[in-house]
Amino acid sequence: MEDAGVLTTSAPSPTRLTVLSGPSGVGKDAVIEAVRNRSAHVWLSVSVTTRRKRDYEIDGMHYTFVSRAEFQTLVDAGLLLEWAEFAGNLYGTPRAAVQDRLRAGVPVLLKIDLQGARQVRETMPDAQLVFLAPPSREELRRRLVGRGTEDPVTLRRRLAHADEELAAEQEFDVTVVNDRLERAADELIGLLAATPLVAAPARR
Ligand code: ADP
Ligand code: 5GP
Repeated sequence: MEDAGVLTTSAPSPTRLTVLSGPSGVGKDAVIEAVRNRSAHVWLSVSVTTRRKRDYEIDGMHYTFVSRAEFQTLVDAGLLLEWAEFAGNLYGTPRAAVQDRLRAGVPVLLKIDLQGARQVRETMPDAQLVFLAPPSREELRRRLVGRGTEDPVTLRRRLAHADEELAAEQEFDVTVVNDRLERAADELIGLLAATPLVAAPARR
């Protein structure tokens, strides 16, 4: 994995960086949408991924969908702040867009998996790491199945991965339980406002 951005002591306009992680199907997208509908002042990073687009997703909005070769080019050029393989697909955060928002003083939200959260913890230790937890594992399974986006093999992979992610909850600064969507969104909005200031990572 290539090295991510380092903090500079002279970076202008320190701002807020929040990471939201949690097992597949817990409701990260749904909570983020509820947060955005309330016009919370936060910019959500658009990741690149090699996963197949779901019917409801819009290229460039939910993700930028790329081939494995294109993804590898981004990695080789050092253009990703962090990246990881999840359930057979590659996902990464474009570095420049995050840097630009942080420099402009805009609070940034990254929706990334556990491996990505660990990388951000290393490279930007002042970022606030939020874990979105399901009310129970059974409810998590119901939501993932109910979403109807995964074939049986991928579903099993994602559930197996979920156990690993649930076991890592203690690595995060705070847990939000996604019991009721609106309540969880309110809690996240409160945390976004309270996220400590971080310096923008250095430009490469
Ligand atoms: P993730 O982004 O974490 O993979 P999604 O946001 O796609 O999860 O949510 C998975 C499914 O669970 C979706 O069908 C969504 O509508 C549903 N869902 C999300 N939050 C809740 C909630 N608080 N209560 C009930 N269903 C929920
Ligand atoms: P999904 O395929 O359900 O959209 O996402 C699968 C997992 O990949 C989720 O845990 C999601 O948070 C994570 N993910 C999405 N974008 C990124 C990214 O840029 N980096 C990392 N490390 N994980 C990501």
